[in-house]
Amino acid sequence: SAREADPPHKCFYTSDLDTEVNTRIAIKSGLARALDRGEFSLVFQPKVDLRSWTVCGCEALLRWRSADLGNVSPASFVPVLEETGLIIPVGEWVLETACRQCRLLIDRGFPKIRMAINLSVRQIRPSFPATLTDILERTGLKPDDIELEITESVVMKDSVEVVQLLQELADMGVHLALDDFGTGYSSLSYLKLMPLETIKIDRSLITDIATGAEDAEIVRAVIDMGHSMSRRIVAEGVETEQQLAHLRRLGCDEIQGYLFSRPIAGPDLMKLLEDYSTYA
Ligand code: C2E
Ligand code: MG
Ligand code: MG
Ligand code: MG
Repeated sequence: SAREADPPHKCFYTSDLDTEVNTRIAIKSGLARALDRGEFSLVFQPKVDLRSWTVCGCEALLRWRSADLGNVSPASFVPVLEETGLIIPVGEWVLETACRQCRLLIDRGFPKIRMAINLSVRQIRPSFPATLTDILERTGLKPDDIELEITESVVMKDSVEVVQLLQELADMGVHLALDDFGTGYSSLSYLKLMPLETIKIDRSLITDIATGAEDAEIVRAVIDMGHSMSRRIVAEGVETEQQLAHLRRLGCDEIQGYLFSRPIAGPDLMKLLEDYSTYA
């Protein structure tokens, strides 16, 4: 990767902390102009249904290529977008761009690829359903064509407003998924109260599933309890055949990870789907 190719750090005067602070300042000022400069793009990672072994959806993931900083990872810039409130305009750009890609897929003969979009807690506010409705109308999509991924921290806020808003979205017919399950402390019984159809098990629990007995037992319990609550289970970050075989045995519904495909650009996704439907 680009990071591994970086030359060793040759700075003797700046502490790591100073460097971090400076980077954060540079990220902040860069992000303020990134939308206007057209520095954002989306990549898409397929999700595969384990029973039919077909692509059933994909997740839109934001990428930022800064004129000054080069490629910056979402782990570094998404928190800054959230702190500065820039996640509101950028999040709308993500929604609209992902929906346009979904429209393109439908027009090319792939009507069943559900588009998953990550939603930050800051975006969950009273005006959001109307914003989403506008975007769906502009792009000619049905609510059923998309899925919104929200993280455990959103659900754990346990605010009446958030639950009401999620219910409003679910009533519209938008699918909702809980992202990164297993990284926070939310319990599955608590999730029963939320209109979340899908639970995505975080990569950190999947990594050692084929080698570590404990993680495998946790994943088994999540899958079984999720199923008893009629939720679909997606495993994130599946990288090996061993992990896949294990997840099959445990009855997992879908997988997403480098094993099947890395996140790829829109045209590459189209090509993958076309090749796949030819040989399947
Ligand atoms: P996430 O939503 O949990 O997305 C999955 C992350 O795992 C992605 O990282 C993806 O590239 C990575 N991944 C997928 N398969 C594998 C695998 O097999 N191995 C490994 N090592 N990694 C895998 P990415 O793209 O760097 O995104 C990181 C996080 O940034 C996302 O986690 C999400 O929380 C956030 N994010 C990305 N795009 C958006 C966005 O448009 N809006 C918001 N609010 N957050 C976003
Ligand atoms: Mg996600
Ligand atoms: Mg995730
Ligand atoms: Mg994650």
